[in-house]
Amino acid sequence: MTADSPRALACEEAVRARIAVARLWAAHQAPYLASAVFALNPVILEPALDEDTGVPVAGPEFRAFPADTRWNLYVEPGTALATPVEEVGWWMLHQVGHLVRGHAARSPVRPEPGHKVSHAAGVVRDEEAHRWNQAADAEINDDLEAEHPRGLAGVVSPAELGLPAHRTAEEYVPMLDVLAQAMGRGGRALAEAIDCGSAVDGRERAYEDSGSGNGLTQLDRELLECSIAAGLQDRISARGEVPSGWRRWAEERLRPSVNWRARLGAMIRRGLSTVAGQVDFSYRRPSRRAGAYGDIVPPSMVRAVPDTVLAIDTSGSVTNDVLNRLLAEVTGIIDGVAGPNRRLRAFCCDVHPHPVQVVRRTSDIELVGGGGTDMRAGIAAAMALRPRPGLVIVLTDGETPWPRQRPPAHVVVCLIGDGGHAPDWASVARIPADVRAPAKGRS
Ligand SMILES: [Zn+2]
Repeated sequence: MTADSPRALACEEAVRARIAVARLWAAHQAPYLASAVFALNPVILEPALDEDTGVPVAGPEFRAFPADTRWNLYVEPGTALATPVEEVGWWMLHQVGHLVRGHAARSPVRPEPGHKVSHAAGVVRDEEAHRWNQAADAEINDDLEAEHPRGLAGVVSPAELGLPAHRTAEEYVPMLDVLAQAMGRGGRALAEAIDCGSAVDGRERAYEDSGSGNGLTQLDRELLECSIAAGLQDRISARGEVPSGWRRWAEERLRPSVNWRARLGAMIRRGLSTVAGQVDFSYRRPSRRAGAYGDIVPPSMVRAVPDTVLAIDTSGSVTNDVLNRLLAEVTGIIDGVAGPNRRLRAFCCDVHPHPVQVVRRTSDIELVGGGGTDMRAGIAAAMALRPRPGLVIVLTDGETPWPRQRPPAHVVVCLIGDGGHAPDWASVARIPADVRAPAKGRS
């Protein structure tokens, strides 16, 4: 059937009607996420048709109604028509969880610019991406189960797997690794191989239409997140029930600068351990040679700490005084992870990147530049360095254009002050403009 045949139109109409009812169900189940549920932009894919009957068939790879980071929800007609309305609504709440909690930016899976993940690769071959998807699902489903105890079959459920509740995806990764290994010996799998789309890891899928510009802009997403967080806070103040994962998210979203040192420290440590292939035990995967040791799990190899580069926005709107204090904080955190007296690469960036400086102390960095900022040039310069850094830490007020595509490195943005913005593929810590001098005893 062609796209505009009466049958195709009737099919699309039936799918849209189902989505509409599922949205209402989801908004009713979790009123504090209603605005998010209605912000999802359903994109109806070409149906896969049964060769004999011409009727749309369900493709199991679209079971999760995968989303992208622009809040497009990809709906395969056969899957939508074969799935009960409540289940479609459940997946909408689930995808909102990936999007609002920024799983794509938090993902340890390295993006491959210009490469679109096909389903077979996303589900079967790429073990790390698959594990991250499961861990992110565990974080979300834990909260969904708190409200709707009757979960779906085959999805990752911390309760059913006997894992502790209320953890983050980063915490679930090593737990699932251990569990998968134990269950694998008995020939069993943790859960079905479900792919939630680029909303979970930031890697573009083959069915996404990246050029269409559909979906939410960065500004739309920020406004939406603020309103969801405010709504959650109202509900918490009124002693309404809010699952703990959502409570934690709202608190962090509304008061990011209260705990900015802790947040920044966690992000940089996470960035270092992610690209290092694990400095810290809790992020380490079990050794691949574990099978040779029977039930004893030998420690994995600890690889070298990755090279880090600091990109410093010296466009003039941030004072050198603030930059210097923040640089001291950042290097204090890096020293804490990697040991003191490491050489650091840093460069200043305004409209153009300035030459790289290799320093032992941040006080040796010479802050040069002025005028406007273009972090597209800054990120490109960082990626052109050899050896290429695994972690880029950007200090900026965010009044700059950013590259549209996620670069092939982990990027942490220290966003100084209340204005400006950071791209959704970066980990972001808001830093107050009046950053005080670091506590004594730190470099
Ligand atoms: Zn998911």
